[in-house]
Amino acid sequence: MAELAPYAANPQSSRGRLVPEDRPEGRTEFQRDRDRIIHSSAFRRLEYKTQVFVNHEGDLFRTRLTHSIEVAQIGRSIARNLRLNEDLVEAISLAHDLGHTPFGHAGQDALNECMQSHGGFEHNLQSLRVVDLLEERYGAFDGLNLSFETREGILKHCSAKNAALLGEIGARFLQKRQPGLEAQLANLADEIAYNNHDVDDGLRSGLITLDQLSSVSIFAKHFETAKAAYPEIMGRRLIHETVRRMINSQVIDLTQQSLGNIRAALPKDIDEARALPPLIGFSPEMREAQHELKQFLRTHLYQHYKVTRMSAKARRIVSDLFHAFTRDSRLLPAQFQEKAEKGDDIMRVTADYIAGMTDRYAIREHRRLFAVEEIPF
Ligand code: MG
Repeated sequence: MAELAPYAANPQSSRGRLVPEDRPEGRTEFQRDRDRIIHSSAFRRLEYKTQVFVNHEGDLFRTRLTHSIEVAQIGRSIARNLRLNEDLVEAISLAHDLGHTPFGHAGQDALNECMQSHGGFEHNLQSLRVVDLLEERYGAFDGLNLSFETREGILKHCSAKNAALLGEIGARFLQKRQPGLEAQLANLADEIAYNNHDVDDGLRSGLITLDQLSSVSIFAKHFETAKAAYPEIMGRRLIHETVRRMINSQVIDLTQQSLGNIRAALPKDIDEARALPPLIGFSPEMREAQHELKQFLRTHLYQHYKVTRMSAKARRIVSDLFHAFTRDSRLLPAQFQEKAEKGDDIMRVTADYIAGMTDRYAIREHRRLFAVEEIPF
């Protein structure tokens, strides 16, 4: 591996963990973070959580788990070329969606609505809550006790109100500073991953068609190149040859643009990079192309009536569960009842319980509470 750039996050000079620990042996601080994330139960649950499609709709669609692995893959490749810390990018990428509710954004919107009078619900903040508090695995601390740099990357956005409650990790939102470059990179690797796999999954589902996508310039361009390279191929193979070219073009664009930004600004270390405007970014042309693609996906996929129906159902499930538990906390599983009895806010305890559910668990739990026919407990 090439030597880390001076502006990269260096595990030797990490800002440390909330509960101080001895340095790990045989691995770096950020590798330890990544390992803890992979061994967490929130990480395993990502397998049964979805973004656009519900888990039972087909085995070939992305789940949040495969999405997170794709983000880590894209992030690591770019990190290596920018001489950023690959382990940190990987840790942030694998953890970035840990706080997502079941059923993607529909679930989060419903939970946020339920929590309006209690500080709301935001998946990003919830991811931090999972790694800081909710995982119960270690004797010495709650959560995973991750390094500052990993936590900083996980907390992508934050309102000023919440930032003020979060101390050191929230400070940058009040000071209007950036996170380190690894965090900036993981964020954009996420964008590359979901824009492209939503095209792929959207086509697979039949909700969008090749014909419709031919109006999107970045797709049309790579579709033509793929067809010219392999005039014989069709169907899934041709789609994959197109999507891989789309991903590649965005990876190359991001790498080159970011290298240019870094060379122009020459931050001498991570703190200087944090004080500058974002240095990891796409070229204006690529931004424009992505904007067009996003618009397309919004209108034709995310707002497709079949997706809208599923989202409406998802919102109903989440809000039914929330109201049932907060009306009568005796319906909660024992460990959550205990938390409420210990004085934790019942609304937040319920939100944590629901946010941790997988799609299928939430559906089952809804049936257990609401179905009239007998089903096993
Ligand atoms: Mg994501």
